Amino acid sequence: MEYISTRDENRRLCAAQAIAAGLSPEGGLFLPEELPSFSPEEIQEMMDMDYQERAALVLSRFLPDFSREELAEYAGKAYASPKFPHSPAPVTSLKSGPHILELFHGPTCAFKDFALQMLPFLLTASLKKTGVQETVVILTATSGDTGKAALEGFADVEGTKIGVFYPDGGTSEMQRLQMVTQSGENVAVFAAAGNFDDAQNGVKKIFTDGTFAEELKQQGFLLSSANSINWGRLVPQVAYYFSAYCDLCKQDHLTFGEKLNVTVPTGNFGNILAAYLAKQCGLPLGKLICASNRNRVLTDFLSTGVYDRNREFYMTTSPSMDILISSNLERLLYLSGGQPLVQQCMEALQQQGKYEVEPEILAQLQETFACGCADDYETAQEIRWTYERDGYLCDPHTAVALHVYEQYTQQTGDSAPVLIASTASPFKFAGTVLEALGHEASPDPFQALEQLSHIAGQPVPEALVSLADRPVRFNQVITPANMKAAVTEWLSK
Ligand SMILES: *Cc1c(COP(=O)(O)O)cnc(C)c1O
Repeated sequence: MEYISTRDENRRLCAAQAIAAGLSPEGGLFLPEELPSFSPEEIQEMMDMDYQERAALVLSRFLPDFSREELAEYAGKAYASPKFPHSPAPVTSLKSGPHILELFHGPTCAFKDFALQMLPFLLTASLKKTGVQETVVILTATSGDTGKAALEGFADVEGTKIGVFYPDGGTSEMQRLQMVTQSGENVAVFAAAGNFDDAQNGVKKIFTDGTFAEELKQQGFLLSSANSINWGRLVPQVAYYFSAYCDLCKQDHLTFGEKLNVTVPTGNFGNILAAYLAKQCGLPLGKLICASNRNRVLTDFLSTGVYDRNREFYMTTSPSMDILISSNLERLLYLSGGQPLVQQCMEALQQQGKYEVEPEILAQLQETFACGCADDYETAQEIRWTYERDGYLCDPHTAVALHVYEQYTQQTGDSAPVLIASTASPFKFAGTVLEALGHEASPDPFQALEQLSHIAGQPVPEALVSLADRPVRFNQVITPANMKAAVTEWLSK
C-alpha cells in the first residue's frame, strides 16, 4: 500500500515515511492511495477481541510496513493500565436512545489520548524504519488539550523529547496545572507571553529556521511536531468506530449489518474523518452528522458548499471546537474530487480565505454527511436535559453533538440508531457543567470538581484529582522572541 500527498499524487511513500514526514513538503496531507476493505466476516471476528486487539488489527490494514505483532505491542502499551485503567472506549446507551462512545477514559480525560498515546510508538518506529538516528524533539504550541495529551504520550519515550508552549494566562487553570505538573525526564513546558497565535507563530519560526535545524542536527536532534494532520494521529481513531460497532452488536443494540449513524463534535475534522474512513472501509455506518458550536464554518460548508473563514471567531464553552480552519477537510476534498479539487480549493482559501465546491460534489457529500450547530445556550440546555432525562452527565462538546443529533432527527425523521462520540469528561469542564445544571461553580478548580462529584454522585477522575498534590515543575515565562533560546538551553541540559 502506497501513500500519496493530497497536493502531489506523484509523491509516493510507504506508511512509515508518511508518518515520519508528517506533512508533505508542498503542504499536502498524506492518504493511502487505496483504502483497505474489511469483509463482514472480518468485522464479526473483531467482536470477540478486546480493544487492544481490535486496534492492532485495524492499524495493521492501514500500515503494512508494521507487523501485527509490533502493532499489538504498541496497542497493549498505549491502551492499557496505567494509561487507560479501565476499558478504553466503552459504549453507554441512554434511556432516550443514543449510544454514547466514551472516549475520555485516558490520562488527560479527552479523546486526543487515543491518537497521542499511539503516535509516539508509530513515530519512533517510523523514524527507525526510515533510518533516522537523531533524537526527535517534538515542539508544540497548545491552547489547552493537545499540549497535555502530547506530553502524556511522549513523556519518557526513549529517543524523544517534548517541549510545549502555552499562552500565559490563555488556558483554563485546570489545563495549566495538567501541563506544569507533567512528569518525565524528557519534557519541558513554557508559558509564552501573548496569545495562542503568538506561541504558534513562535513555534513555526523555529521550524522554518534552517540554520537552527542544522545546529540541532549536529547535536544529534531532529525537530518534529505532534500536529493533528500527521497520519499517525488520525489512523488510530478509525479503530474506535469498529470497536463501538462490535460492542453494540454484542449488547444486542444492533443487528450485524444494520446501519449506525454517528454524530461527532467537530473542530479540525479529524475525528469525523476517521468515522468516514471506517465507513469507506466497509463498516456499516449510515449518516455522519458533523456537529459544530457557534463557530459554524463546517455547518455552512456542508449545507451550502461554501467554505468561508472570513468571519468572526467566537470563544465558546466548547473551546476545543473553536476553530475556523479545519485542516483535515483537505483529506475529504481529496477523497471526493482528487488532486484538482484540492488544488482549486486550497488556492482560493489562500487567496480569498474561502472556496466553493460544485453542486455535484456538494450533493455527493450530503449523501454521507449531515450537519448542524449549537450555541452556548443550547449547549447548556442540552447538558441539563440529558442529565434530567437520562441521568447522564455529559461535557459541553458532547452536548453540542447531542443537540445537533436531536435537530437532525426532528428535521429528517431518520430513526436509525446513533452513536455519539463523547470527546471529553464532564469533569474537565466542571464549571460549565455545574452552571448548566443550575449551580454556582466555585472559582477554585478543585472545589468545582468536588461540587460536581457531590451533585452527580460520581467520583472525580483520578487523573484530575491527583493534580492537586503534584508539584509544579515548570514556571518559566518567556517572550516569543526568546523561544528559540529557551529550546537551546533546555536541550543543552
Ligand atoms: C480536539 C477536540 C474536538 C475536535 O476534534 P477534531 O478531530 O479536531 O474535529 C472535540 N472535542 C474535544 C474535547 C476535543 O479535545
